[in-house]
Parts: sequence; C-alpha cells; structure tokens
Amino acid sequence: MKYVSTRGLTSPHSFSEAVEAGLAPDGGLFLPEVLPSIAEKLSEWERLSYAEVAAEFFSIFAPEISKVEWHELTSAAYARFESPDVAPLVELDERTYVLELFHGPTLAFKDFALQLLGLLYKRQVRMSGRSIAVLGATSGDTGSAAIHGCMGQEGITIFIMYPDGRVAPLQERQMACTGAANVFAIPVPGTFDDAQRMVKEAFADTAFVERCGLSAVNSINIARVLAQSVYYIWAWLKLPPAVRETVEFVVPTGNFGNVLAGWLVKQMGLKVGGFRVATNQNDILFRFFTTGRYEEGVVKPSFAPSMDIQAASNFERFLYYMLEQDTAKVREVMGRMKAGEVVEFGQLDNGFRASRMDDVEIPGAIERVWKEYGYVVDPHTACAFKGMAPDGVSVVLATASPAKFPEVVMQATGSEPIHSALELLKGKALVRNPLAADVELVKAFVAERV
Ligand SMILES: *Cc1c(COP(=O)(O)O)cnc(C)c1O
Repeated sequence: MKYVSTRGLTSPHSFSEAVEAGLAPDGGLFLPEVLPSIAEKLSEWERLSYAEVAAEFFSIFAPEISKVEWHELTSAAYARFESPDVAPLVELDERTYVLELFHGPTLAFKDFALQLLGLLYKRQVRMSGRSIAVLGATSGDTGSAAIHGCMGQEGITIFIMYPDGRVAPLQERQMACTGAANVFAIPVPGTFDDAQRMVKEAFADTAFVERCGLSAVNSINIARVLAQSVYYIWAWLKLPPAVRETVEFVVPTGNFGNVLAGWLVKQMGLKVGGFRVATNQNDILFRFFTTGRYEEGVVKPSFAPSMDIQAASNFERFLYYMLEQDTAKVREVMGRMKAGEVVEFGQLDNGFRASRMDDVEIPGAIERVWKEYGYVVDPHTACAFKGMAPDGVSVVLATASPAKFPEVVMQATGSEPIHSALELLKGKALVRNPLAADVELVKAFVAERV
C-alpha cells in the first residue's frame, strides 16, 4: 500500500514515511493510492474487541508493520481508555444512538488517533535512532491529546501552539500542567487558523524540518484519519443489523477530519445511509454543503471552541475525490482558496447533509437532550441535535466529555459535570511559553529545544 499526495507532485510514500512526513512535500495531504474494500472482512470483525478491529484495519493500510506488532500497538493505545468498550454505543431511543468517543486520557475523540500516533512515533525513534520534534496547532483538544500521546516518551519533544485565551481553561490545563519536560504549550495571539498557518509555514521550510526531525501532529496526518475510521466500523458492527445500511452518522465538525474518516470507510464498502456535518456558528462547511460555495469567513469564538475553524484543513482530501483525483485541478482550486477566493462547486450530490447551531442555541440543545433522554452532552456534541433525519436511525458522535466544558453545561442542566482526571489538574501549576505570532520566533524556540 502506497500513499500519494492530493497535489500529485510527491513520489509515493510508504505508510511509515507518510506518517513521519505528516504533510506531503508538495504541500498536499497523503491518501492511500487506492481505497481497499473492507466489505468482506466485516463479519469476521464482528467478534473482535475494539483494539483488535483497529489492528486488523491498520494491517491493511500498513502491511509493512506486522500484524502481531499492530495488535501490540493498538492494544497498548486503547488500554488507556477508561471504558472496556473503548467507544461505547449508547442507545437514547430506538432511533437515536450516541457513540461516546470521550473515554480516552484527555476526554475527547482526538485520543483515538493520538494515543496510537504517540506509539508510532516511539516506534519510529526506536527504529531510526533519531529523535523527533512534534509541532502542531490546536483549537484545544488536538493539542492536549497529542501531548498525552507523547509526554514522557524518550526521543520525542512536543510543541503545541494554541490561540491564547480561546481554548477552554481545562483544555489549557491539560496542555500546560503535565509537568513533563518534553512538552511545550505555546499560547499565541490570534485564532486557531493563525496558529495553524504558522505550522504550515514552519513545515514549508524543508531545511528546518530536516534539521529538527519535525513531524506534524495536526489533523492532516493520515494515521489520524485512519485511526478515526475504525470507530465508524465499530459503531456499525454494534448496531442492530436491520438499521446498519441506512444509518446516518452525525458528526460535530470543524476541520473535517472526523467526518472524512467516516466517509472514507463508506468508500471502502461499509454500507451506511450517509453523514451529516454538524457545525457551530463557524459554518463554512454548512454553507459549502448547502450551497456548493466554499467561502472562508471570520472565526467567531463559540461555546464549542474545537470547532471554531473557518479553513477546514482536511477538506483537501475530500476535494481530491470530488475532483476525480485530478491533482492538477486540486492544485488550482487550493491555490484559489489560499488566495482567499470564493470557490463555486455548484450543485452537489455527495451523500452529505449539513446543519448549523449558533451559540444562542447550544445551551438550549444541551438542556433539551438532558430533559428528553436524561443524557448530558458537551457543547460540541450538542450541535448534532438539530435537524435529525426524519426517518431512520442516527448515530451521533459524542466528541468530548461534558466535564471539559462545565460552565455552559451547568447553565443548561443545573449541575456541574465532573471528571476526576480534570479535578486533579486544577491543583497543578500552569507552565505556558507564550510567543508572538511570528513563525521565525516559533522556529527559533523549537530549534533551541530539540
Ligand atoms: C476536534 C473536535 C471537533 C472537530 O473535529 P474535526 O475533525 O476537526 O472536524 C469536534 N468536537 C470536539 C470535541 C473536538 O475536539
């Protein structure tokens, strides 16, 4: 299995090379050269544990790592989750299920990919004898999950930038209170998109990347997307067989990484009804899927900060398929988007629905779900509870624990959601490394510490 770039100017990479590079050298994103079919494996996978399904799935995409080793990697990654099911599927009523993706160490779905990625980095350091520096930007949850995947690992140093004052206080504590010497939490002025742009600029300096052994940890890494594909398969296997083929997955969406992972497994032969992209008031993807226009707006901070994004970095992967894998066209369209142009795609028929929920609605949605089902959702997951498919079954992906966002949840339900892992953090010292929004300063900061 080889991995090609969406922009077509990179030679095919192996899985390990694509994971190590993160972003392709031509600025594109890696994807499998062909999407294999998994349809004929599903009945075999029905009996397996979560970690076993993940190992079988990854063996298809990275056969250069032995099956035995994949089983070791995934069982170590998912042993750190507090639920034996790893991703429990909870039935709210016969038409509404919640796939709980928040039982990992940082209580958000990013742990699924980043616990595994941390172990892949560790394997890479062991095999190459070279240390690596992980650099990423976060709107909150990616950074903490990446840090928890890498902290204390020999040969790895991790640097995470985040928009100062725009991540939830507990998210910041998860990044800045680890006490680990190989972790640097870096608040920067501006928005997530500004921080992400600096990461992209740093990666564009190939000499710097080479010198520091730099690896990207944001949602563009192909290993992350594939790790997220697994729980769609898992949920499908847990659903009653009669509803599997019509189910709609509802995905609180920011960077388009999570829902893309599901869409890819559909292309691999998992028969599902479709997907709904649920955005908050930062609604670029809602607008795209309802009008066919891709037009960046200005980020408006919301109750669901991990979705406060107006430049969906994984969208390029979808674009690649939409443009029928014509990489010259991808380059052209990405160039226009980068220049801030509005891109018109016209009428779309691609199996996606979309919904949007603004900050005025979020507390009410949390309250409604609480009253109707006795179930507490976080403000990201709340965005999914609008515009449910009128017939058929929906699986809502619960992307974070309500305990990460106590203020708005308490306002809506009247009681404070608590998690012991977060309570522990409250007593620890915050270690921040603030920098100005200047990529040269960031590069110097990294170079001094690797
Ligand atoms: C990251 C995140 C999202 C958005 O996921 P994308 O892959 O960026 O679409 C939604 N909810 C939570 C809690 C998140 O951490």
